Amino acid sequence: MIASRQGPLVLMYHGVGRRSGQEDPFNLFVSPDRLHGQLTALLRRGWTPVTLEAYLHRTVPRRSVLLTFDDGYRAMVEEGLPILRELNVPATVFVLSGLLGGRSRWMAQMPDEALVDAEDVATLVRAGLDVECHGWDHSCLAAADPTTLVRNVVDAARALRDLTGRRPRAFAYPYGEHDATARRAVAEAGFEIAFSTHRGGGRYAVPRVDVNSTDTDTTFRIKTLRSYPAMRRVTGRVPALRPALHSLIGRAARN
Ligand SMILES: [Zn+2]
Repeated sequence: MIASRQGPLVLMYHGVGRRSGQEDPFNLFVSPDRLHGQLTALLRRGWTPVTLEAYLHRTVPRRSVLLTFDDGYRAMVEEGLPILRELNVPATVFVLSGLLGGRSRWMAQMPDEALVDAEDVATLVRAGLDVECHGWDHSCLAAADPTTLVRNVVDAARALRDLTGRRPRAFAYPYGEHDATARRAVAEAGFEIAFSTHRGGGRYAVPRVDVNSTDTDTTFRIKTLRSYPAMRRVTGRVPALRPALHSLIGRAARN
């Protein structure tokens, strides 16, 4: 038997907006139309989107989903937030405390995407979203030196608390990368949970399912299946299967 996902589905988005392949070489941006379609499909199929509080502390329905948005792109506030409000869907946004009002300069191929500033964070909090911690400056925390860990975990949490008036409870590792030292640092800083991307295990490395601009209705639906993480592990071990799977289910054109 192959292991399947335990607990609620956690989806990992990044930006919301229309971007060309050149502007978004890592396929991080989902268009507003597509986000609307994906969320509508989830609701129609009986999924219950939950808040971070419910995810952490309440008994939630079996088909529950936690929506997360990494990096805190300003476009997520401008183009994503209206959709979340329209559909009354809660979400968690992971922002970079040291890059408020800055740009996505940690990606050499995509250095100019605007990030949320303090006012945007206030807008998200007022809208009822959970604004949580993605570190200080998007440094990788696997094999990180102590100074980097303190700045990206302890200082980043404190800065976010000063901004929102609430201590952040969830951490998302930049690049999804972590090791035992990083996980310990996050736990000791008082975070209740930490999210990785595909590679996970335990409360301080909860895996998420990535949604990106290549997803079609079909791939999105497949990604919500309980067996998807196991399917992904299999195709990861047998790389030849991956293009075959993709040609079977298609790859979205940018819209
Ligand atoms: Zn990130």
